[in-house]
Amino acid sequence: MTASQSRGRSVVWFRKDLRLNDNPSLARTLISGKEIVPVFIWDEEEGGDWKPGSASRWWLHHALESLSSSIEKRGGRLILAKGKPAEILPLIARKTRAEEVLYGRVYDPGGLATQQAVEESLETAGIRPESFNASLLNEPWEIKNLSGRPFQVFTPYWKKARSGIHRASESYQPENLSFADTNSCSSLTTNGLGLAPDHPWTEKLARHWEVSESAGLALIERTAEKIAGSYSKLRDLPGQDGTSRLAPYLAWGLISPRQVCQSVLQVHPEEEEPGAKVYLSEIGWREFSYHLLYHFPSIPNEPLRPKYANFPWLSDNKALRKWQSGQTGYPMVDAGMRQLYETGWMHNRVRMIVASFLVKHLLISWREGARWFWDTLVDADLASNTQGWQWAAGCGADAAPYFRIFNPITQGEKFDPEGKYARHWIPALENIPDKWIFRPWEAPGELLPELGNDYPNPCVDHPEARARALDALSTLKTE
Ligand SMILES: Cc1cc2nc3c(=O)[nH]c(=O)nc-3n(C[C@H](O)[C@H](O)[C@H](O)COP(=O)(O)OP(=O)(O)OC[C@H]3O[C@@H](n4cnc5c(N)ncnc54)[C@H](O)[C@@H]3O)c2cc1C
Repeated sequence: MTASQSRGRSVVWFRKDLRLNDNPSLARTLISGKEIVPVFIWDEEEGGDWKPGSASRWWLHHALESLSSSIEKRGGRLILAKGKPAEILPLIARKTRAEEVLYGRVYDPGGLATQQAVEESLETAGIRPESFNASLLNEPWEIKNLSGRPFQVFTPYWKKARSGIHRASESYQPENLSFADTNSCSSLTTNGLGLAPDHPWTEKLARHWEVSESAGLALIERTAEKIAGSYSKLRDLPGQDGTSRLAPYLAWGLISPRQVCQSVLQVHPEEEEPGAKVYLSEIGWREFSYHLLYHFPSIPNEPLRPKYANFPWLSDNKALRKWQSGQTGYPMVDAGMRQLYETGWMHNRVRMIVASFLVKHLLISWREGARWFWDTLVDADLASNTQGWQWAAGCGADAAPYFRIFNPITQGEKFDPEGKYARHWIPALENIPDKWIFRPWEAPGELLPELGNDYPNPCVDHPEARARALDALSTLKTE
């Protein structure tokens, strides 16, 4: 037996914690003194209907490349495998003589089923599983209302949960981690996992994102210094650089919410800036979304509020395609949908506008919208996406009341007053004066040489669509 084998080994099974800093599984090996056998397993069936979409898989591919190279720099080798973790982990543990498998918990139904199967198979094989909270400030089951039930309204939830922003990160230097020699174990290459879709669309994403833990950490620093303080003033203005863009780094755990909160609190210790307080409460919305998904696991497919189950959504593929491709004729909606398709990300204010437009103006189900976002967002996250769509449709927790129908014209005028955002994503509107930028069909003829050719006319009339939505939705007023 070599000296290193006598120290013992732990398999660290990476899931949605693809990072070397603030990773509780890795921190544990520093306490136990065991060597790390790092493993990632791509189970292409996990999640069923909600297995990762195209943009998310593209992100994962690059995140794994980055993690592999960080581990290599520290003398280790990330084992990449494809298949069922419950079958593969015991084999790797045996082959590397590891006594335990450490991992960060996930909370979506597919991930939870995998975790349960893994724990059973490891126990049968006599290998100890141990899991940690690597992705949230609070565990979903830690926060309960006075009756011991999960919250369904954000404000009281956050009042109870917000002390989680002070939870400390794991403090250690990744340089001190000790990786085992895993050359005896076969591993696929990142390409061999077949994650990144073979589609030119994904090439565009690389122009907008640097996918690595260090890029995420740099963005956290920028958020604390530049974004958080002015967040309450700028966060609703899509033409400004006013939000953190941390969501995709959080989605696969290249960074943790604890790291984000701590950096913000270091610069704004008493949260003296209203911006910092609001910023931290957005991290709270992420937590709340996980709380809901954990306690109500059917919500990716079913409305939280049952009365919406039989809502007469329209099946209108032509309108859906116009919405997806940013061709509705409403500039604020189209700018958002084009930003999404071009960059894999959309500003939150615009997400709310496009979502409301789909479910209310077009009366197309929130599930269709959630699916499109799921496939195209680099920050696709089952908890936050489900919560965002159900909120917009009025069928979720703390949802917008049924009569709140975002007006895509006035929303544009209010939040993009000079049309900077709309013009950026819709070059056909570049020269239209501000007055008509969000209602180009009303502009005098001489200003609109080609409206209808370069940019479509509105696919629905706003007042008519609004009246139709109110009609349909008013049937839900009483349970
Ligand atoms: C219809 C719809 C769908 C959405 N789908 C997703 C999704 O798939 N993944 C996702 O991460 N967010 C989703 N959101 C929430 C929000 O739009 C994004 O988190 C945010 O735009 C990401 O950009 P940012 O990192 O610059 O956010 P910032 O404004 O800088 O916020 C900081 C962080 O707080 C969290 N956050 C902010 N707003 C919300 C919110 N409303 N709900 C939950 N968490 C929030 C995110 O982790 C975000 O990174 C959705 C919102 C809507 C309305």
